[in-house]
Amino acid sequence: MSRKTTIMINGNPTPLDITFRANSVNVNIRVDSQVIKASAPKGYPLKQIAALIEKNQDRIELEIRRQRQLRRRVDRQGQVTIVGRTYSIEKVANLTQAHCQGGVISIGHQNAQEQLDGFAYRQLHNYMAKKAISSGVAINGLRIGRYKSKWGSCNYRTRILAFNGELAFLPTNVIDYVFYHEIAHLKHPNHSADFWREVEGLMPDYQTYRKELKQVQI
Ligand SMILES: [Zn+2]
Repeated sequence: MSRKTTIMINGNPTPLDITFRANSVNVNIRVDSQVIKASAPKGYPLKQIAALIEKNQDRIELEIRRQRQLRRRVDRQGQVTIVGRTYSIEKVANLTQAHCQGGVISIGHQNAQEQLDGFAYRQLHNYMAKKAISSGVAINGLRIGRYKSKWGSCNYRTRILAFNGELAFLPTNVIDYVFYHEIAHLKHPNHSADFWREVEGLMPDYQTYRKELKQVQI
């Protein structure tokens, strides 16, 4: 059973999703994509969940702000950076697919976010395809998708790489790190010392960007 509501966090209405679980013992609170997600034992009083959130609102607010900063999207000036390139955004009525000319991305009013994502994912696809060619690695396929819990994956047998489209909104060094990480898996389908040596050979300063990526919630 779940319940969606809104709660005030330091004066700002914030979406709250509560999941009640029969096997839960404690109340658990986290922030995911700027939404407060709480899980609680079945029948747990809503008031007590709200009180617990209120008690932790500074920490929650900080986390929401951190996610907002680290995650992308369009800034106050109406600009967005996609695969290292900054574009301005222009809203055009009745447009069903984003298109780009001279550094301006035009998107329709409806499904604006999906249209922007579609454009960003295509840019990421091109970027990764070029990187695969310039790295001289033989792959059989490249997929860009929406994944809840991974930035990239590599099928060692089929040699098909998959990347999370959200990478498009992160700095190019971070994108490159994920690329080299998956490329290294073509040789080592594990996270052994040999695997990490392979990554280091491909990108000597990978640790900086690995750390940076860890700061970003998918
Ligand atoms: Zn890995």
